[in-house]
Amino acid sequence: MDNLALACRCGTISGRAIKVYPHHGTRVVCYCKDCQAFAQALGVAETTLDAYGGTDIYQLPAARVQIHRGQEQVRCLRLSEKGLYRWYAGCCNTPIANTLAPRMPLIGLIHTFISDPGAEGKTGPIRARVNLGGATGEIPRELVRSAPAKGYVRKLLFKILQWKLTGQSRPNPFFTGNQPICTPEIHAQSGGEH
Ligand SMILES: [Zn+2]
Ligand SMILES: [Zn+2]
Repeated sequence: MDNLALACRCGTISGRAIKVYPHHGTRVVCYCKDCQAFAQALGVAETTLDAYGGTDIYQLPAARVQIHRGQEQVRCLRLSEKGLYRWYAGCCNTPIANTLAPRMPLIGLIHTFISDPGAEGKTGPIRARVNLGGATGEIPRELVRSAPAKGYVRKLLFKILQWKLTGQSRPNPFFTGNQPICTPEIHAQSGGEH
């Protein structure tokens, strides 16, 4: 069992993820246009996206993410009325995490909010590269081969179910009951969300 230190770039918001096990890591890189649009809306695409427009995300159950300081600076943006809840730091525009509906226990921590110097060893390697159709450049074949998208959604749904059944949906640092901790701003844009 290991803890992973979390903080925004300026340090106002901080916390930790607990029980981070590299051997069953759920680290993915998402190349969808909406993840790119989120980073662009915050003006931090350069530090958030990889060379092909991908966002490195570590997925874990809600109950394993804790925010200890700076909660009042947490902001939420949605790219459509039904879009993901995309959380960021109001103090310095650091992308924090993505979440689904309040009852879904999944939190996708964005690498920009992981401040732990030992993060790589704790979260394990990238397991899947997904939504490759949105990539902004040709991803080298060996990268795709080492982290295939195939089976990703099925595995993820299975994990979400397990997390629900084992009571790891709550507490969720981004929701009080079914209410987001702050009112999401809706940034409508064209194109669907993955
Ligand atoms: Zn900050
Ligand atoms: Zn995405």
